[in-house]
Amino acid sequence: MRIVIKLGTSTLTHGTGKLNIRRVELLCKVMSDLKNAGHELVLVSSGAIAMGIGKLNMTRKPTDIPTKQALAAVGQCELMYIYDKLFSEYHHTVAQVLLTGTDVEDAHRRMNFQNTLFRLLDLGALPVINENDTVATAEIAVGDNDTLGAIVAVNAHADLLVLMSDIEGLYTGDPRQNPSAELIEEVRTITPEILALAGDAGSELGTGGMVTKLRAAQMCMDAGCDMIITNGARPEDLYKIAGGERIGTRFFG
Ligand code: GLU
Repeated sequence: MRIVIKLGTSTLTHGTGKLNIRRVELLCKVMSDLKNAGHELVLVSSGAIAMGIGKLNMTRKPTDIPTKQALAAVGQCELMYIYDKLFSEYHHTVAQVLLTGTDVEDAHRRMNFQNTLFRLLDLGALPVINENDTVATAEIAVGDNDTLGAIVAVNAHADLLVLMSDIEGLYTGDPRQNPSAELIEEVRTITPEILALAGDAGSELGTGGMVTKLRAAQMCMDAGCDMIITNGARPEDLYKIAGGERIGTRFFG
């Protein structure tokens, strides 16, 4: 299987912005093992800005764009250093790919990206993709890594996109407020009722960023690719996902 795995900032870091070492070590180990078992993997990793905050010992996330871009420049290096170190332990080679929206909107540039991606996979490398936050201002940015994950999955002709986040999947209500909310295991069509479950675009904390996740799901489904939303706190679940077990919410493409 060709699987694109998207790791959110909350999966990779503690609330301090510093690396969640135990979890990231386990993620890299499981992904290395899945590659050893013959799966082709692409990693879409967030966390550049958070790692920049941690590395520079800042206490709060800044709001101005130049500082965020500077932090991404610092944090992206740190992120790749960690991935290079951990995947090297299992003899896997990482390759950094940084994109902006314009790189995938323009047909010629998109083809260049695809050619590189396919060649990296042929060579057995593990592409690690993020938005090029240091130059991606609002006008040219993809904007969020759920959407970037879907763009990558579609362009990589992946079988599956896995969004690893801080929520188990899509629920019938907000599980943080409503204990009787139930996990929806399968979605075959994104109906207006399903869209309504995501809540407002602004309620990021309450819904785990479900709006962007549903948009990503629609992009994958349109391209015939499945997508899973699952909790990144259990890296070993990737084995079950690769084995076809039911985990989180699966959107069928
Ligand atoms: N590209 C951002 C970062 O690396 C994350 C964007 C997102 O997670 O949606 O910090």
